[in-house]
Amino acid sequence: MKLLTRDRFDEMLCLLHDDGYLTLGPTVRDGAVVPREITTTDELPIGWRDEHEPGHYRLLPSDTPDLFGCVLTAQPWKAQLFPPERTLFSVTRKNGKLAFTASPPDTTRRALVGVRPCELRAIEVQDAILRDGPYADDEYTSRRAGTFAVVVNCTRAASTCFCTSQSSGPRAKAGYDLALTELLADGPHRFTVEAGSPAGEALLERLVLGDATGADREAVETGCAHAAAQITRRLKSAGLPEALKANHEHPRWNEVAARCLNCGNCTQVCPTCFCVAVEDQPDLAGIEATRSRRWDSCFNPAHSYVAGGVIRNNTRSRYRQWLTHKLATWHDQFGHSGCVGCGRCIAWCPVGIDIIEEANAIRQKA
Ligand code: SF4
Ligand code: SF4
Repeated sequence: MKLLTRDRFDEMLCLLHDDGYLTLGPTVRDGAVVPREITTTDELPIGWRDEHEPGHYRLLPSDTPDLFGCVLTAQPWKAQLFPPERTLFSVTRKNGKLAFTASPPDTTRRALVGVRPCELRAIEVQDAILRDGPYADDEYTSRRAGTFAVVVNCTRAASTCFCTSQSSGPRAKAGYDLALTELLADGPHRFTVEAGSPAGEALLERLVLGDATGADREAVETGCAHAAAQITRRLKSAGLPEALKANHEHPRWNEVAARCLNCGNCTQVCPTCFCVAVEDQPDLAGIEATRSRRWDSCFNPAHSYVAGGVIRNNTRSRYRQWLTHKLATWHDQFGHSGCVGCGRCIAWCPVGIDIIEEANAIRQKA
């Protein structure tokens, strides 16, 4: 474990830049923290704290100097690897023949600086579908191959977090290139740094850092334990998939359907949701057309349009589909949960529907 002082953090960003990476980090935009391109630490949300409650998100000013004092970006990092919109191919008619041109995948190398451990786990969840599954996505695979992940372990949790129930945080175990923990107390503002890949090792060597002390290591343990202790939400996972699949007619589905607005916010902010809609856009002359895809939502009635009809034609069936897929049938498909416990769907649901409350209620016998 090495030690990086605050005043040398920009050197790390410069090295990543020199290596051709587009460096992305949490930034403040329109009253929320979102991942965007950064070139210096000045662009990080210094002097802000994020507040998350069911149906509530606020940024509040803070006099603390930490670079990563905000727990979670409002938008998931998945947009960097799986863009919300993409043109798949175009087709042109010429001399009675059709010529198809596929869109090449984006090969930009991206350094994701400040990814939280739950979000890193969400990237692994998407890897299983979009990179390693039977229908690998060329865009995702290309962007993922060029990714350098700098995870920042959590020493503070939001009230909506439940990573401890999903074994995805507050400290990253694997899957990163570098893992940082920000330390403010008992010494200068500093970061412990651990390499998790050959690329991470190589960057650390070029930074030429000193070793972390025993006290620094202890501070990492204490900081992550503090975040874990702040997490009060618990999702009881044992037996949950079976309980959800056995209770399709539970009256709780009607109760949540009466509250749900079908807005799809929960699916847009979820770092593991991957559903898309495919659209063709022909020109009026019939000469050119493009096929594109964009993020879709299982709350959109058109998403379940099959063979001339919508098969999930009410809110009850759509919410049931979303929750049951996340917490039950995802296990059947991929061998693990589709939820990493980031809590975004709780904060960004306009009516504060809480996935944990709903799952725990379905456990109760009808
Ligand atoms: S279902 Fe909710 S808590 Fe779970 S990963 Fe998606 S947004 Fe996060
Ligand atoms: S559960 Fe909440 S966020 Fe999701 S569709 Fe319903 S109202 Fe919107």
